Amino acid sequence: MKPVKLSKQEIQEKISLIFSSNPSPKQIKKIKKLAMSKNIKLGNFRKKFCKKCYNLFNSNNSEIRIKKPYKIIKCRNCNYINRYKLKTN
Ligand SMILES: [Zn+2]
Repeated sequence: MKPVKLSKQEIQEKISLIFSSNPSPKQIKKIKKLAMSKNIKLGNFRKKFCKKCYNLFNSNNSEIRIKKPYKIIKCRNCNYINRYKLKTN
């Protein structure tokens, strides 16, 4: 049996699909690993989950603050502070 090799395009589609269906931390961890192994950037999806515990952010488990040039999201689940640099343009 041949190992299944996914193309970058297929992985990107998979990422979009997973994030549109309320993924569990386990699923997020898995897809992140897959993306990283193929050198695929998660782009905006990166800001949708906690870097530490991989929980999907929602209004109940996160606090969002803008402190230019950063967007700071505090995870209420593990208390990790996620920082994302905002685009300047
Ligand atoms: Zn967290």
